[in-house]
Amino acid sequence: MNSLFKVPLFPDEQLRSHLSRLAHANGRTARLFCSDLGIDADKLLRGDLDNIDKFANLVSLPPAEVFRAALSEEGKEVATAGVRVGKRRLSGHVRFCPSCWQEDEARDDRLPGTRRYLRSVWLLQQYRTCALHGRRIADLGALPRQRNVDFCQLVNLRDSDIRTQTTTSHPEVPSALDCFLHDRTAGQTRYGPLLDGMELAFALELSVRFGVALRHGKHVGQKYISEDELVLASAASIAALREDRDGPGMALDRIIDAPALPSIRNGAALYGQLNPWLCRMKHHPGFGSFAAVLREHAIANVDLPSGSEVFGPVETTPWVTIPRIAKEVGLSPVTIVDRFREAGMITGPVNDALIPRATFDKFRRSIADRVTISDAARDILGCRLDRSIDPGLRKEQVSLSLISFLYGLSFVGKIGVSDEALSGAAARPCVTTALSGRRDLELRPTRTFAS
Ligand SMILES: [Zn+2]
Repeated sequence: MNSLFKVPLFPDEQLRSHLSRLAHANGRTARLFCSDLGIDADKLLRGDLDNIDKFANLVSLPPAEVFRAALSEEGKEVATAGVRVGKRRLSGHVRFCPSCWQEDEARDDRLPGTRRYLRSVWLLQQYRTCALHGRRIADLGALPRQRNVDFCQLVNLRDSDIRTQTTTSHPEVPSALDCFLHDRTAGQTRYGPLLDGMELAFALELSVRFGVALRHGKHVGQKYISEDELVLASAASIAALREDRDGPGMALDRIIDAPALPSIRNGAALYGQLNPWLCRMKHHPGFGSFAAVLREHAIANVDLPSGSEVFGPVETTPWVTIPRIAKEVGLSPVTIVDRFREAGMITGPVNDALIPRATFDKFRRSIADRVTISDAARDILGCRLDRSIDPGLRKEQVSLSLISFLYGLSFVGKIGVSDEALSGAAARPCVTTALSGRRDLELRPTRTFAS
């Protein structure tokens, strides 16, 4: 093989392009060339290490460089050009930039017939415009699999189609996504640690979902969005996530839309449909850094109630919700609202109310010495709250009872009391007053719960 005529493997070239150019430079087709050398072409192009080593040795290239140009499949993903993407992100068509190929053809330092080569980035269907030339990527459509192996033969066969596509490919400004894909497949990282630290597969999936939330709203599913619009959304997302400008803060502000948030402000409320996908991706290498950005932004910019869950608990914040207050002090939410209204602390609708923690602390101090449910039972109805008396009587039947209502602790439920205790209690003015107009209370006499 000393007589082998070698051609360079360009850093952004696909292996099947290089294999074909090498074969044609030596007067063979790719398959015949491989057959002569005892190499399995299909396995080589799929990144089989034995065939990669054999080929690399013959052409005096580092095996890692050859492997980088191959298209190796791993589960639902493929790795090529040093990046990993989902298989569904590959176009499956032969695509090219007319300007790139015009420049190739002008290179008289390359053998005629082997000058044009296939760039790895053209395989990505989201790559729409050449980042170098600002020209729409042309598409020759899907071609029979066996012909895909021999790139030069394919280019010759489709020469007239290539000319037609070249004339119809118009100049257009490459998007941030085009530039990102081009740079990443060329091994360049200049989009900030967030994007540069993500595998391309994760970055592309994230960019689509983040972009849909950004352009259409966080509750809109991507199945309702057209393919073209998804590409635009993805481009908007990359522009927002790159950190050479303002970073993702403004985009996150728009997605979160703080004035429209409910009081329970967890990840689902903040990020809508983006959130469950992110939760599913939590074991992915790119997840941690992105989740940290979301969490940091939310804590700094959103009024989060204590106990919120934004990719980890946010325990102590300047805000509390009514349900959280109710849980902490052991009163019903309705009672809490009544108390706050009485004190003039709540004036509008309460569903989405956030209470300042200082106000809550003041409220908590005001109820610190109030009577317990057991004391109330003994005091008002003359009965004891003791489960050992009647194992069949559930404690909560008492705690959500007339007793607690009278003390403003709760308002609805059933109470088990003796006839004697009931008649005694009903004779008391405060009980009679409380019972009037309360249809949701039921006094149920029982002989087993007696003092
Ligand atoms: Zn180009």
